[in-house]
Amino acid sequence: MSTSNPESDNLAFERIRSNWQHVVREVTDAARQSGRDPGSVRIIGVSKYVGVEQTAMLVQAGCHDLAESRPQALWQKADALPQKPPIAWHMIGHVQTNKLRRLLRYRPLIHSVDSERLLRAIDRESKREDRVSEVLMEVNISEDPNKTGLSITETRSLLELDDLASVRIVGLMAMAGWGTDAEQAADQFRAVAALRDQIQAESGRQLPELSMGMSGDFREAIAAGATMVRIGSALFEGVR
Ligand SMILES: *Cc1c(COP(=O)(O)O)cnc(C)c1O
Repeated sequence: MSTSNPESDNLAFERIRSNWQHVVREVTDAARQSGRDPGSVRIIGVSKYVGVEQTAMLVQAGCHDLAESRPQALWQKADALPQKPPIAWHMIGHVQTNKLRRLLRYRPLIHSVDSERLLRAIDRESKREDRVSEVLMEVNISEDPNKTGLSITETRSLLELDDLASVRIVGLMAMAGWGTDAEQAADQFRAVAALRDQIQAESGRQLPELSMGMSGDFREAIAAGATMVRIGSALFEGVR
């Protein structure tokens, strides 16, 4: 990252803007091809690969939803970026409970709830601040032991907890396993959507959000019903 070279900063901005516009077009096309309203898919820019300057360029290009995978990186960027336009923050990596109090100041949507302990800690800290936090449950849909996230059984049992007044579970998050091809990723995304549909039908509770799909597999995720796609490398191609 350069701080003192206006010419290369300008090139970086042009590149990020063109990457952003390309991703927007691709997401729009993928939604239309699945017979969905493009407005029903939110693009979350994953800024974990770059510093504050290039993150600011992405915001300037038009992306106002940003995700980080480490709490410290999220709050450092949130503090460093201009107040306007307002950014909606997303936490997509593992959260240690001792980072939670500081993290919640930025009101992120936490996509990566992976334990009852974390869910209860979010409830407790949110109650303390007198508000309700929205979260997604990270599901390890392939039940691959090398992957993060809750098993299907754990996901169901956390959704049955009825003593959490300050946390609202609004959907599921999933990642396709490493090394999965497009076909396998599509199967896994459809399985996440089917699990969501099943839970909704059984419990009557609504889980409107499905956070799935990254740079390499967002088209499959959108076809399966993703409402949020988490895009990183495709936005910073050519600038890192
Ligand atoms: C890094 C990351 C992404 C973005 O992945 P790309 O392939 O770079 O688009 C999405 N989701 C999670 C959970 C990540 O850690």
